[in-house]
Amino acid sequence: MYRGRFAPSPTGPLHFGSLIAATASYLDAKANNGKWLVRMEDLDPPRDPPGTASNILKTLEAFGLEWDEPVIYQSQRAPAYEQALYKLDNYTYRCTCSRKEIADSALQGIEGAIYPGTCRHGQNNSLQGAWRLRTDLQEIVFDDLIQGPQSQVLERDIGDFVLKRADQFYSYQLAVAVDDAFQNITHVIRGADLLASTPRQIYLQRLLGLPTPHYAHLPVVVNAQGEKLSKQTLAAALDTSNTVQLICRALSLLGQHPPALLLNSSVNEVWQWAIAHWKLSAIPRVSQLPQDARD
Ligand code: GLU
Ligand code: ZN
Repeated sequence: MYRGRFAPSPTGPLHFGSLIAATASYLDAKANNGKWLVRMEDLDPPRDPPGTASNILKTLEAFGLEWDEPVIYQSQRAPAYEQALYKLDNYTYRCTCSRKEIADSALQGIEGAIYPGTCRHGQNNSLQGAWRLRTDLQEIVFDDLIQGPQSQVLERDIGDFVLKRADQFYSYQLAVAVDDAFQNITHVIRGADLLASTPRQIYLQRLLGLPTPHYAHLPVVVNAQGEKLSKQTLAAALDTSNTVQLICRALSLLGQHPPALLLNSSVNEVWQWAIAHWKLSAIPRVSQLPQDARD
């Protein structure tokens, strides 16, 4: 049974980039007679502006995106993450390095500084600091349904990564690996900005004995300056009075060729058309798309 999900972080309102991810994950689930779940990735509640999670859910409702099971909140899942951390005991160590200490001696990897391993090798019996996961030189490969074959060597490309921060917050990588399995997710459809995170999640799945879902990484929509739409780049919040037009634009960017007549339809009719005509294989096989691209 197909189970997909949309997993927004409530750091700000949904923008057009979020709509692309929600649309593609929803349609791929529905076109495969599957379930579509929503998971709120509120791992860092003090930093999330109050009311954002409920605003996101209202926006999804306004767009006619209906989830099939109760929403899961990562802020309520700490016991599950703690249990996973406990299971990984043989692979983790405490790290008390400061950001500056790491930056001063680190090589650059795919996602910035590679942790130089200071606390991995030292006798750090500290009961403080972050929990880091030991990586290795085994090649991790997977076949992305959109981006094609992928390969990473974690120790070389990423380095030992944090599972729980010194301030006690769990990392995105740990929470996602645990929750995708907890929700029995079979297909992860999300933005290509997370493509490089996937091998870390697969590595965690293996160490924890969890299944690996199928992955499809969508082109990320970028603005005229070539920046990913996000709160940081001041992407506009989705306009819920303009749902049909925005969904049709998302469908065009996803290579689905919605007929112009659809612009006069109801949201429900648009979704019906889109489910019936959904083709994952029509999505452009690139990692970035300009926001105003025409199909
Ligand atoms: N919460 C992440 C984000 O909003 C997405 C996580 C995921 O889909 O795995 O960027
Ligand atoms: Zn350290």
